[in-house]
Amino acid sequence: MISQERLQEIARHWAVAETLRRGYPCEPRLTEFPGGWVVWSPRPADGTVPEPGSGETVIIDRETGALTVVPGLPPQVAMSRYTGPAATAQAAYPAPPLPVPPPGAVSTMPPPMPPLPPTTSGAADPLSLTPGPPPPNAALVSSPFGPPRLPADEQARRANALAAQLARLSGRTPAPALPQVVATLEVVGRTFQALGHTVDAEPVHHPAVMQALAAIPPGSRTRGAHRHPDLIVVSKALFELGGAEHADTAWAARQLAGATLRLHLLREGTASDNPAPAAACHTCGTVLVSLGLPGEPPRDLVRPEPPQRGVTGRAALRAITAEAVAATIAVPGVRHRLPTLPFLIDLLEPYAPFHPVLQSQPGAAQRVESFTLDVWTREQTADTLGDLAERLGAPLFPIGGEAGGLHSVLAVDERHRVFAVDHAGAWFLGPTLDDALQTLLIGRSTPRVRATGTW
Ligand SMILES: [Zn+2]
Repeated sequence: MISQERLQEIARHWAVAETLRRGYPCEPRLTEFPGGWVVWSPRPADGTVPEPGSGETVIIDRETGALTVVPGLPPQVAMSRYTGPAATAQAAYPAPPLPVPPPGAVSTMPPPMPPLPPTTSGAADPLSLTPGPPPPNAALVSSPFGPPRLPADEQARRANALAAQLARLSGRTPAPALPQVVATLEVVGRTFQALGHTVDAEPVHHPAVMQALAAIPPGSRTRGAHRHPDLIVVSKALFELGGAEHADTAWAARQLAGATLRLHLLREGTASDNPAPAAACHTCGTVLVSLGLPGEPPRDLVRPEPPQRGVTGRAALRAITAEAVAATIAVPGVRHRLPTLPFLIDLLEPYAPFHPVLQSQPGAAQRVESFTLDVWTREQTADTLGDLAERLGAPLFPIGGEAGGLHSVLAVDERHRVFAVDHAGAWFLGPTLDDALQTLLIGRSTPRVRATGTW
């Protein structure tokens, strides 16, 4: 027999997922029938007409609590056809990592996560999408938001394997922090590897790489590009292949003829034997092509007009933001947990559920690249940000990321300061989110956070 709390949590999660899926607020309803309960939503009050067959109806089995997802059927039809839990019932709403408690035994659940402080007055109704604090036991449910949860031993195994790989590639202790990018260059039968350069001392590049970099005006250069592993590995190879006396790019291009370069992204939670491919940034791409590596010179992308956001659906977006923040906090790292910052929902709700900016063009002091403010964190960041928080002396929470070969995590600290953490280190973007957005849009300079936590 399923508990009332679990019923309500399922309904609430369903409502968030359906709201995102359908693009209008879905008010969840629970209707009991002999087989269990059906979760559904009435037609929206604003006159929006759902597409026929759209959305999902969920049936909760009375005996087992198993969930059956029925796409595109009205609840009455779904109920009438229900014959028991299907084998695929857990696909969309996996059960929490707990046995279903016996009747009335809700106290067998483990202690809840600390709740976020309420940001609105009034009690929260878990079966409505009205604004309110997130559920106090968000850690217990599998949320459609937040990063996937790994078993603790698998998480520790991956973290150890990543740390060992980073230590081997960097040859130093402590190894560089995550996220990292591994560059592997194969040329004339030899293999060179490098990581991003994260220590405070500046990297030393081969003169040919320096010359290619210097040909790009500062305002057109990507933040920290000279610390990126693709340039480090090319310098390494050129030093080995011909020493430092050759400075011209034509000589370098002859050395690198037929070379192949691969980039792999290592992030917290990555299985180190199966890393995702990474992209070169605009500046590295330009330098690599000018040094004879295969490819087209990267192009600019002029920022299109941002979409205007309506004022409707604010209550639903607030609920989604709360849900997403709670789900993100619920996933721990191996060494750290993400903090519960009381202002997060107020800060992020104006950009919820996500706020993408597409751009790649010269800026005031450095290149502007695409970024997204996103309450829906898909990757584990608790250890990545926890390590930086120790240097800064302030806890950090993930609020988005940058594309354009930066592979960064954007994060806000308890003082509202905003940072970007990428494979070249951490960068201060601004004292507030508004300032940080201006920095990212205009291309203001972003000081690098030193090992001491200052900049
Ligand atoms: Zn780069």
